[in-house]
Amino acid sequence: MKILKLPKANFQKFLLSLKNYGEVHIPKKKSEESYVFAPMEDPSEVALEYLRTIIPPKKYFFKPKESIFHYGDGNHFNEHIEDIDKKIVLFGLHPCDIHGLKILDIVFGTGYIDKYYFARRRNVLIIGLSCMPDERCFCRSMGTDATEDGFDLFLSELKNSYLVTVGSSQGDDITNDLKDLLGEITKKDTNEYLKIRNERKKRFKLQLDISDLPYILELQRESEVWDDLGKKCLCCGSCSMVCPTCSCFNVYDNLSLDTKKGERIRQWDSCLFKDYAVVAGGHNFRANRADRVRNRYYHKQHGFVTQFGKPSCTGCGRCIQYCPTQIHVVEVFNKIRGEE
Ligand code: SF4
Ligand code: SF4
Repeated sequence: MKILKLPKANFQKFLLSLKNYGEVHIPKKKSEESYVFAPMEDPSEVALEYLRTIIPPKKYFFKPKESIFHYGDGNHFNEHIEDIDKKIVLFGLHPCDIHGLKILDIVFGTGYIDKYYFARRRNVLIIGLSCMPDERCFCRSMGTDATEDGFDLFLSELKNSYLVTVGSSQGDDITNDLKDLLGEITKKDTNEYLKIRNERKKRFKLQLDISDLPYILELQRESEVWDDLGKKCLCCGSCSMVCPTCSCFNVYDNLSLDTKKGERIRQWDSCLFKDYAVVAGGHNFRANRADRVRNRYYHKQHGFVTQFGKPSCTGCGRCIQYCPTQIHVVEVFNKIRGEE
């Protein structure tokens, strides 16, 4: 593992230099407590203090809505992969969001390989950034508060510099190209890193005990907690849309009026929506809100664990921040554990 040092005095030059590798996207402030990943027009726009964007980085790889092919013109269809040739440098991902992408890699790469997702995944360089948790972060409980892979470069903030960890050959090329901006790390830097790391560890206030959670969920399938939750949840789907690992989508056709031409659309969907589980004949397997909420929680902390050996939640806190009825995922699991 190669680790270098970027003095803060060189940070803006570093950010500008990233334009040589693609269109640079950074976290930007949108309103008091809201941030978005968006193209960088000026390096001064970067919101280094951000903790979570509204929509996670999945939007770059798994688009909210995209046309996947057109048809017509005789019997032919033309495949279409949006942004297939677009190089992007995505700057500022925190460890939980890097883990979110690693989970999506499993989802879109197991069994059927989703070429739309991976075509864009190959074209995006990931530059990670360290963070200090707030009261909604529980990534430490989920084991996603740090990462040793899944990035090209990772910047860990010190007082006057960043430690730059190289995570790929492309990241190595960048550090070679930008060697004039970088330096060697010293013992003092290491000590400073350890001090900040220990301080960060103390700042995690929210915790979710996931030991034997799938087992407890198995025992609690009929718990009244799900009925109570069903009364509170609007099934608006916001938690799915902002979740870095939710990956459900719908597929439908837009046809021309004469039905001879059209396009096939793929669009984000949510298992919280009422018609999500409707099948041919009109039967709805999850007609009740309580069933739909329970399904989402079981998928994250039971089904995914059973299938892939880990939960599909990164503890990013987005669903806590953006739920209009203040449903709190950790409180729900604490109730299920009888630890209210
Ligand atoms: S954001 Fe809240 S109200 Fe909306 S579906 Fe999710 S849990 Fe229910
Ligand atoms: S379930 Fe909530 S906390 Fe977990 S990854 Fe999704 S949005 Fe983040």
